[in-house]
Amino acid sequence: KGLGIALVGLGGYAGGQLAPALLETEHCYLASIVTGTKEKESVWAKKYNIKKENIYNYDNFDAIANNNDIDIVYVVLPNSMHAEFTIRAAKAGKHVICEKPMATSVEDCKKMIAACKDAGKMLSIGYRLHFDPFHDEIMRIGQNKVYGEMNVASEFSFMLKDPKRWRTQKDLAGGGPLMDLGIYALQGSIYSFGELPTSLWAKNTTIDTSFFKDIEGSLEWELTFPSGKSYCKTSYEKPIYAELKHNTEKGEVKLENAFYYGGLKGSTPDGKMEIKPVNQQAQQMDAFALNIIENTPSIVPGEMGLRDNYLIEKIYESADDNSKIIQLNDIPNILDI
Ligand code: NAD
Repeated sequence: KGLGIALVGLGGYAGGQLAPALLETEHCYLASIVTGTKEKESVWAKKYNIKKENIYNYDNFDAIANNNDIDIVYVVLPNSMHAEFTIRAAKAGKHVICEKPMATSVEDCKKMIAACKDAGKMLSIGYRLHFDPFHDEIMRIGQNKVYGEMNVASEFSFMLKDPKRWRTQKDLAGGGPLMDLGIYALQGSIYSFGELPTSLWAKNTTIDTSFFKDIEGSLEWELTFPSGKSYCKTSYEKPIYAELKHNTEKGEVKLENAFYYGGLKGSTPDGKMEIKPVNQQAQQMDAFALNIIENTPSIVPGEMGLRDNYLIEKIYESADDNSKIIQLNDIPNILDI
């Protein structure tokens, strides 16, 4: 059965992806749910065979400290709530997986890392693509310069103009599509090169400025790496689109549907990537369970989430200041971990 996971926040991602993936995992299973919606309790309990005593709400959540069925807390709440629940989970003596973006400020990321460290518990971020074989292949190709020197281009966008959803509310989301979607293009750039960027600039390209006031509707940015550049785009104002591309000396390496849960397609100057798809979330959660069981470090630790939140803050800083070029001298380096 493996380690017990408690899902905190039973919204679209927890219900649509994580819970079904936990039926496929080998080293962990869905042991507990934490929800603020009473009606979800019985529905989930029945569907996933969850014991009554393993059902919590946001108020009595801290009582998980006394529940030995729960080894890992998986925080799947709106972004601004990640810090509070990660810290409470660590204080309750549980390992934590926290969804991306790790938090809405670097400050909070640091507090989350410290809380897990103090509790002697592991912290990882829900960066599922590090467990997808298409992205493994992109990392191998880029980092080994298989097709020579390259520049990267990446975009993740979808249409979202619903003011009632937390994603368009700055206090809950922390920012706009950069926090939610652009973070994948940022990540994809970093692991394509296997390097940290040395400078960046960004531009707010929002189309509907009357709707998108508190958060950006669209944003573009460029990262300079020691061995090349990456141009990224993200938007809540365009039809759904996800791409990660290497423009190399020998032609194009491309991932289509790059950041989706499935349906990824890859090609190189040599032809189509022949890769068998996996359940990204099942792979990700099993890997973390094995990290705990075998006492090995996560490849997507809290420090990586902190690094990305740091870069996101710098991207906003540039966009807010006329696309000023920002040198990245004190970037938190976790590549050595
Ligand atoms: P969602 O809106 O579908 O679910 C959010 C859940 O939080 C709901 O169950 C809601 O009831 C609960 N909640 C508690 N307090 C809330 C409040 N004050 N306001 C609004 N909702 C509140 O969102 P989601 O798409 O499931 O996203 C949740 C988290 O998961 C986000 O951090 C998001 O970035 C992340 N996510 C990650 C992936 C991925 O591929 N790794 C995909 C989707 C979402």
